[in-house]
Amino acid sequence: MTDVRSHGIVLHARDLREADKLVTVLTRTGGKVTVVARGVRKQASRFKALVIPLTLGYFLLHSGKNLDTLIQGEIIKPYLGLRSDLTRLAYAQYFCELCDAALPEREPVPEIFDLLVTGLEKLEQDDSSARVARCFELNLLESLGYRPFLDGCLNCGGGGPFRFDREQGGLLCPLCTAGPQAIPVSGAAVAVMKRFLDGGFHRLNVCMVPQGLNKEIERLNFSLLARVTGRSRFKSLDILRGLEEEIK
Ligand SMILES: [Zn+2]
Repeated sequence: MTDVRSHGIVLHARDLREADKLVTVLTRTGGKVTVVARGVRKQASRFKALVIPLTLGYFLLHSGKNLDTLIQGEIIKPYLGLRSDLTRLAYAQYFCELCDAALPEREPVPEIFDLLVTGLEKLEQDDSSARVARCFELNLLESLGYRPFLDGCLNCGGGGPFRFDREQGGLLCPLCTAGPQAIPVSGAAVAVMKRFLDGGFHRLNVCMVPQGLNKEIERLNFSLLARVTGRSRFKSLDILRGLEEEIK
């Protein structure tokens, strides 16, 4: 393993021994790397703020015999706009949790690093965090090699009304056999998902997605993400559900 010098975003950090932290960073050039940050819980540590999750920084990570360690680093952006709003913060943590769950250690994925940076920027700016999240989920699936097939029935090319089959990763028409977990999907949801995949975050603010439609897309995206990551629960999503209940 080699040392990594790269831009990175802190995905996750947990306490280790009395003064250290175990920190997972998604770096642009070295992929996801988990390192020990020594002494960062001491008052005087200069890297105290650098290792807080959701921080964009420039890192020097040393590859050791047993453990990799944080050697140097500086903060580029702490995303303060996300930290001052509970809903935005929970969505940002969800993006980090998804990347952490989906990516293996030390496999460079610069396009996913760039997607995460753009996703966090959009979360800071956009009025609808839910819309940003749906666009992020779909583009993450595409970058991971699991772009859903949305151009007609994946079996025969026929038209709708469609069901979405997560096992086969796409749409099926009424004549083709779907798996037992296939979900009915509206034409409006298919159109918005294609827009998010083809247009990315570009002019996302003019793409109106009513709440019911957003929920429908969320369910489809999540069925695929659960399959890709092997996880059906995310701590940040539990927090988001709690916040939604409070608003009701
Ligand atoms: Zn068909």
